Amino acid sequence: MWLKLKWARFFTLAGWQWSLSSRPDFDFKVHVPCWKEDCADARNTHHHVLLVRVVNQHRAALEETHGKRFHTDQMYQEPHPALFGDGPDSTVWQMAHGDGGGIYDLVSFTSNGGRLWERANHE
Ligand SMILES: [Zn+2]
Repeated sequence: MWLKLKWARFFTLAGWQWSLSSRPDFDFKVHVPCWKEDCADARNTHHHVLLVRVVNQHRAALEETHGKRFHTDQMYQEPHPALFGDGPDSTVWQMAHGDGGGIYDLVSFTSNGGRLWERANHE
């Protein structure tokens, strides 16, 4: 599936640690860098680990699917189940982050996500 290949390229271009998921129903495991002090773990590394399933839907539909498919307990445990659609603005997951938490997407975690997504088409 073309969209999965594009995401693999995106993660590589972003320089993020990622692998194919060994869990059924998920495509990737990816470490998304985080800059918040509150999110550092015992090894003082700053990232959130997501289990990504690629689903070709836009943001609103992804959010609805995510809410139906996963229980809140599962959402907030790392690795967090995430749904990724066609580009950084079509992504959704929930987690604790900084001194808060809630629904997030990749736009909040990339400064150049749109450009990387465009480059992932070609490289
Ligand atoms: Zn964080």
